[in-house]
Amino acid sequence: MKKKSLMLLILLMVSLVSFGCSKSNTLSDKGDISTSNNSSQKSPQNIKSNRQNNNSEGNNSQVNNSDNNNNSQSNTQNNAQNNSQQNQTTNEGNSQKKNGQYVICIDPGHQAKGDMSQEPIGPGATQTKFKVSWGTQGVATKTPEYELTLSASKILKTYLEQMGFKVIMTRESNDVNITNAERATFANKNNADLVIRIHADGSEDSSVNGASLHIPAQNGQYTSKIYPKSNQCAEIMMSSMKGAGFKVNNIFQRSDLTGFNWSEVPAVLVEMGYMSNPEEDQKMAQKSYQEKMMKSIAEATQRYFSQN
Ligand SMILES: [Zn+2]
Repeated sequence: MKKKSLMLLILLMVSLVSFGCSKSNTLSDKGDISTSNNSSQKSPQNIKSNRQNNNSEGNNSQVNNSDNNNNSQSNTQNNAQNNSQQNQTTNEGNSQKKNGQYVICIDPGHQAKGDMSQEPIGPGATQTKFKVSWGTQGVATKTPEYELTLSASKILKTYLEQMGFKVIMTRESNDVNITNAERATFANKNNADLVIRIHADGSEDSSVNGASLHIPAQNGQYTSKIYPKSNQCAEIMMSSMKGAGFKVNNIFQRSDLTGFNWSEVPAVLVEMGYMSNPEEDQKMAQKSYQEKMMKSIAEATQRYFSQN
């Protein structure tokens, strides 16, 4: 009995140990599951809070994303700004450099004393015309045209030089004697790229007003070569002047002007307005008016060269 009891006890202990181990393993497995189950059961709040965390992370991430987006947007904007600034700088740099290669001849119309002796109207022409007149005069201000044209031309020169262009002037005082043919050949000899002639109009009809642009004629005997670029420049000038609020009557082709016929350089003659119109005469006498008009012409010149 004792032996049997001992044997039974041993068997019981062995089976208990063995069962315990397997149970422990099972518990351990279940424990893991139950932990997970417990966690899922116990922690809807945790889940919720996790979700909230997740959400808040999501929000954070959204916020971050949106910050990032904002940042990236603002970076993009900054980059765009920087790029555009760089481009602008580059463009300005280029245009400054480019402008510096161009020579613009400004011809302030007329002079204090006209020279009514004759000169050929074009190279090799038998037809002649007076060399240079003293121009017209303001009906209200009594300002002579040659004074107005020199004043406006000096303003134009300043604007163009500020843009980087090389500017030469046929005259910088009123007491000169330079014929229209000589003014044209002055631009030719100096390899000018454009001639801008500044004048003011006169009419027997005092109601007539507005600026006008004159260019070498397309079918002119001496002017057909320089017509296309002259016309292109005049179109841009008309648009720019109108944009600045000036009335521009039209672009007129001329084959009868000595100053165009002798020119090998594209040229535009700007009639600023009518000195025979009292109101326009008074406006043109104002420096601010001259500045506004010359600025629109300088800007047009810039645009013209950017296209050529
Ligand atoms: Zn004139």
